[in-house]
Amino acid sequence: MAAIETVAVIGAGTMGNGIAHVAARSGFKVILYDIDQRLLDHAVSTIAKNLDREVAKSKISADDKSSALSRIVPTVQNSALAEADFVIEAVIENFETKSKVFQVMDEIGRPSVILASNTSSISITKIASKTKRPDKVIGMHFMNPVPMMTLVEIVRGLATSDETYETTKQIAESLGKTPVQVNDFPGFVSNRVLMPMINEATYCVMEGVGTIEAVDSIMKLGMNHPMGPLALADLIGLDVCLDIMDVLYSGFADSKYRPCPLLRKMVDAGHVGRKSGRGFYNY
Ligand code: NAD
Repeated sequence: MAAIETVAVIGAGTMGNGIAHVAARSGFKVILYDIDQRLLDHAVSTIAKNLDREVAKSKISADDKSSALSRIVPTVQNSALAEADFVIEAVIENFETKSKVFQVMDEIGRPSVILASNTSSISITKIASKTKRPDKVIGMHFMNPVPMMTLVEIVRGLATSDETYETTKQIAESLGKTPVQVNDFPGFVSNRVLMPMINEATYCVMEGVGTIEAVDSIMKLGMNHPMGPLALADLIGLDVCLDIMDVLYSGFADSKYRPCPLLRKMVDAGHVGRKSGRGFYNY
């Protein structure tokens, strides 16, 4: 592959700051772009804090931390993205927003540059169709928290080329991650398997099969899951879980993916998990 030295990360939220952290720590120069200066500042301080934690655990040295931070260039100017050799988009989970970002990057970026999306559920094929380089569009689905989780689910759209896949796989490996290749279908593999489990756990609570604590204990003690599915739903956000169930339900037109009415009711009530202080549990 052509030398990739500079990675652009678009969107500096939860996932964007984690991806920027890992890329800078792995030696890449990182252009971290967001439309909101406040969120960008917050992202840089989060990265510094998380790098400090790695220093405290002797995973990296204090020098590694400062050189990683010095490789990150935060910006709200999208013209800065022209320099990127590889782009990872991590903006909000909204098709119109992502399409616009991909169209802009298609205009700004050199023709050889790969445009990867960290989407959890939106079709890579559909995003790619908005660009003039659908063969160079691919899904790069990192897990949260990015610095700690080793998996990257690499999602091939209908037009994604072998060369694009190979380069993306090598980038994931150079970030210290383990890439696993999947094809572009609703929910990919990770959320197609995970979300119906969370949804079914919610049905168990709604139908009175077991309490919240019982459902989580059974999955932790009996299946060796580190967290129960309902505690995990609170961590992910019940609104995010519902959105993904809706993508599966409409994408496959199959009633087996119907979102649990209790999940929808909790989202309607604003009880979306840790971020709102209340979900299946209180925080
Ligand atoms: P977030 O809300 O924390 O961050 C999104 C960021 O995008 C914000 O900082 C926002 O200002 C920025 N943004 C919005 N529009 C933009 C634009 N046009 N240009 C540049 N920046 C823009 O969201 P997140 O949780 O980091 O999720 C980002 C993506 O990662 C989504 O596609 C999501 O589905 C996916 N994802 C999330 C998780 C998770 O657990 N949170 C896990 C895997 C994948």
